[in-house]
Amino acid sequence: MPEHLNKELNSIAEPYVKLVLAVGQHDADYVDAYYGPKEWSEEATAEKKPLSIIKEVALLLKTRLDNIDSSRNKEILHLRHQYLQKQISSLVSRVEALNGKKLSFDEEAKAYYDVEPPYFPEDHFKILVSELDSLVPGSGSIPERVETYRRRFTITPDKIDKVFSAAIYECRQRTKKYIELPKNETFRLEYVHNKSWSGYNWYKGNNESLIQINTDLPIFLERAIDLAAHEGYPGHHVYNCLLETAFAREFGWIEFTVYPLFSSQSLIAEGTANFGIEVAFPGKERMEFERSILFPLAGLDINEAENYSKVQKLAEKLSYAGNESARRYLNGEISRDEAAQWLVDYALLSPERAQQRTRFFDQYRSYVINYNFGLDLVRQYIERRGGTADKPGKRWEEFTKLISSPRLPSGLQ
Ligand SMILES: [Zn+2]
Repeated sequence: MPEHLNKELNSIAEPYVKLVLAVGQHDADYVDAYYGPKEWSEEATAEKKPLSIIKEVALLLKTRLDNIDSSRNKEILHLRHQYLQKQISSLVSRVEALNGKKLSFDEEAKAYYDVEPPYFPEDHFKILVSELDSLVPGSGSIPERVETYRRRFTITPDKIDKVFSAAIYECRQRTKKYIELPKNETFRLEYVHNKSWSGYNWYKGNNESLIQINTDLPIFLERAIDLAAHEGYPGHHVYNCLLETAFAREFGWIEFTVYPLFSSQSLIAEGTANFGIEVAFPGKERMEFERSILFPLAGLDINEAENYSKVQKLAEKLSYAGNESARRYLNGEISRDEAAQWLVDYALLSPERAQQRTRFFDQYRSYVINYNFGLDLVRQYIERRGGTADKPGKRWEEFTKLISSPRLPSGLQ
């Protein structure tokens, strides 16, 4: 590794980490994970650096980065350089937003997540919703019937822990077959209330995560695998463990000890966490595991598993309806109630869940694109490299490479 470039980047990485911690003093959601030197976070709290100073220092670091030419260096160093550049420019955008600058949904997505999210017209969702007509029984509108149908697959509170533990165990076993996990990796599982999200991984460093599951609203069966794979294996927990092992510890790249939520790293994190579900359960394997293990544990009728899985797959295609609702709402074109109604009509959420989701829009804004657009970008990237569904080994290999690299969202395209 060319030492001078690495040293130069190290000398920028340290003030960058301190800046992220400083922004965290103004924005409680910003620092998603930090396991670097404890004194730095204590200093950030004590100092509470003003936003104007943070921006000034960030722009100086950005100039230093812009003056470096890493294009002829090894790919990993070049990626590190680009990663720092993009992380700092998204930090500047976040600071400006905290200072009152208004960005449209699409401008924000570009500034924070390094992508231009697609747009879908209303008719696109109407057609998809109508495809569910024959799969869900009963009378009434399709959203109502889908909600009634899904409620039949609620995991009752007394069975939640058993079902989730089994799902996590399975996801971990499947991941371990292909990814060498650090020996001491571990997680804690907690059930929480009053959150705008359904699950969250808080990475603590030293290969440990705290996975929280929000039990405010009924939890349907499919959430078990979704959350176990997304938050845990091979999703966020594994992603963070690999970054810590390879970069923070082996290379001493301190920038990886901090994870600013509103930054390009989030698109890779969410996209790979969602794609990880398919990687761990290719083809019909998910449905088969749910039918044979999770349905009985939840006390549900196994004969329903196949149709339920079909409904879920179709409903997943509607996830972009959430982005359209968020875009219109955050751009001030529709009210909260209209945004919620859109989610009911086209994302097929229950009215309560739709309201919860609008609170997520308030809190995390254009972050919503990281889940579905991130998933699509990651899937395309991995398939282009031969990691298609019929080649599970190759798919795991490419997936592992991606979650242990500092590649940027724009580098996926
Ligand atoms: Zn996530």
